[in-house]
Amino acid sequence: MEQTNKIRSTVSLIEPSIQATSLLADYEPEFDMDFVKRLLGRQKAGSLTRSTRNRLQQMHEGVYRLLHPRVVWGVFPIAAIEKDQIEFVSGLTLKSHKMARAMTGAEQLVCFVATIGRKIDMKVEQLMDQGKIANAYTCDALGSGAVESVAERFQSGFDRKFSPHQVHTAAGIRFSPGYCDWHVTEQHKLFSLVDAGAIGVTLDKSSLMTPRKSISAVFGLYPKGRGPTTKIHNPCFYCFKKDCLARRSPAKTIN
Ligand code: SF4
Repeated sequence: MEQTNKIRSTVSLIEPSIQATSLLADYEPEFDMDFVKRLLGRQKAGSLTRSTRNRLQQMHEGVYRLLHPRVVWGVFPIAAIEKDQIEFVSGLTLKSHKMARAMTGAEQLVCFVATIGRKIDMKVEQLMDQGKIANAYTCDALGSGAVESVAERFQSGFDRKFSPHQVHTAAGIRFSPGYCDWHVTEQHKLFSLVDAGAIGVTLDKSSLMTPRKSISAVFGLYPKGRGPTTKIHNPCFYCFKKDCLARRSPAKTIN
C-alpha cells in the first residue's frame, strides 16, 4: 500500500547540474475550486447558478474518493536557451519561442507528469452513458481542478520538498505541450524524459494522455536570487488570446 506524500527518491539527486529521472511522489487529493468554477462558467466571484452550486456540493465528496494523485518527475541540466528552443545537455531540444523566452536564466528544467488516476474518467463515461450530462460535466471539471491542484502543489512546494539546500529558486511559469506556441507533439519528448508509465500514464499517437486527467509540464530552476521577473518571463503579458483558460496574468495590451 502506498503512503501519502512519501517521496521515493534521494533528494540529493537534484543538486546542481546532475540529471535525475523518474522520481515519484504521492499527494493528498485536493481541488483547485477556483479553476473548477471557471470551467463551469463562472465569470466573477459568486456568479455560478444555484443549480450548478448545488450539483458541485452534492458531487464533491464522491469525486474526491475517486482521486489517486501522483507525480513522476526529473531534473535536467540546460545546455543553451536560444530564441526558439531550449537545448538540454543531452542534446534533446524543446521548441517554443514563448517558453524559451520565459526560461531565460534558468539552469535546469524540471519535467513532470501528474495524474489523478483513471477512476474519474470511468465515472464521467458512466454518467454520460446514463444521460446525466450536467453531472458528467461537473465531474469532469472537478477532475480537472484536482489534477491542476496536484501540478500546482508540486511546483510551488518544489524547493521546500526536493531541494533542501535551496541552491535554486523554482520558476513561476509552467508550460505544457499544446499550450501557447509549444506544439502538442512535443509531448513525446517529455515522455521520453520521465517514466510516466510508473504512475499509469500513457501517450497515444495523437499525443493525448490516458488517463485524461493528467498534466505534463516543465518549469525552470533558476539560481537563488536570480529568479524570473514577471514582465520578461511571463508570455501572457504580451499575448492577445482573450479566452485562454491557462492565462497567468492580465495582458498589458488587452483592455
Ligand atoms: S494567454 Fe498565456 S498561457 Fe494563454 S496562450 Fe497566451 S501566453 Fe500562453
